[in-house]
Amino acid sequence: MTIRLPSELIAAGLAPPEKLADLARVAERYAVAITPALAGLIDRPEPNDPIARQFVPDIAELTTTPEERADPIGDHAHSPVEGIVHRYPDRVLLKLVNVCAVYCRFCFRREMVGPGRKALRAQQIDAALDYIAAHPEIWEVILTGGDPLVLSARRLGDVIKRIAAIAHVKIIRLHTRLPVASPEKITPSLVRALKTPGATTYVALHANHPRELTAAARAAIARIVDAGIPMVSQSVLLRGVNDDAQTLEALMRAFVECRVKPYYLHHADLAPGTSHFRTSLRQGQALMRSMRGSLSGLAQPAYVLDIPGGYGKVPAGPQYVEMCGEAGAVVEDIAGAKHSY
Ligand code: SF4
Repeated sequence: MTIRLPSELIAAGLAPPEKLADLARVAERYAVAITPALAGLIDRPEPNDPIARQFVPDIAELTTTPEERADPIGDHAHSPVEGIVHRYPDRVLLKLVNVCAVYCRFCFRREMVGPGRKALRAQQIDAALDYIAAHPEIWEVILTGGDPLVLSARRLGDVIKRIAAIAHVKIIRLHTRLPVASPEKITPSLVRALKTPGATTYVALHANHPRELTAAARAAIARIVDAGIPMVSQSVLLRGVNDDAQTLEALMRAFVECRVKPYYLHHADLAPGTSHFRTSLRQGQALMRSMRGSLSGLAQPAYVLDIPGGYGKVPAGPQYVEMCGEAGAVVEDIAGAKHSY
């Protein structure tokens, strides 16, 4: 059973009894859920376990720093109708649900997701699809949330079919944590619902530590990829979880082994109560340099920063080419030596 209450965290050995009051204060403010698959991965009683750190509430979450904001990447500023975020010309987010199988302690939408938060009603889905249909520049629709894969196969399949029926939409991308959080829920009927004629489906898997890619998670991923659905990854750079080269490299290799192309490594957003997770950009760049020197190109993610306030995502990785004059450049190799070009 999914753990949701502070008393259940203690009963499961995921927190000591003396932390009950702290856990209750955090749980009142931000949603808590840990699925059996992820709870089973946590080494007890290790307080610094990288899986525990991602899902077990911490009193540090009640400290909001001045630069943090409720809507760190500016979803609201770009939302023309309920459920749609239209930040870039050729693509929109469609947030069908505001619940997830697990609640990540560093979530950038933590003020928007949680139990009891409403999914889009039928009329709101109609209005969102009307908006997409009325904007021929929209080539890609990204289903996110919340986690769209928590919907039933029938409801999700119905929305996917309706999106694919819009002639200018060619790509449907779903962002999910379900293959690692509840691999058993990636059923053949759910996988069938992801595909439909008229558009190409991609699935983006959110995972942050190689231990999340268990045998069961790998089998769930294989069910998706074997159905002909390409997968990409997204991870968040998190202090105490994956902010060392060895862990990040193992994570990226595990993705590639599972046929999930490493896509994004996000710099942690300025979500409220998450400063204990954030690294510096300098540290992120150093980790990217290290991966450039030791990992196959196939396993390289792009390190990206969502500019606070809704100004969009930009590459934040280290630069290797410095232009000189009209055509020349100084190029740095992976060992740090400079060469004229
Ligand atoms: S699965 Fe995604 S939306 Fe849900 S809590 Fe985690 S980061 Fe937030």
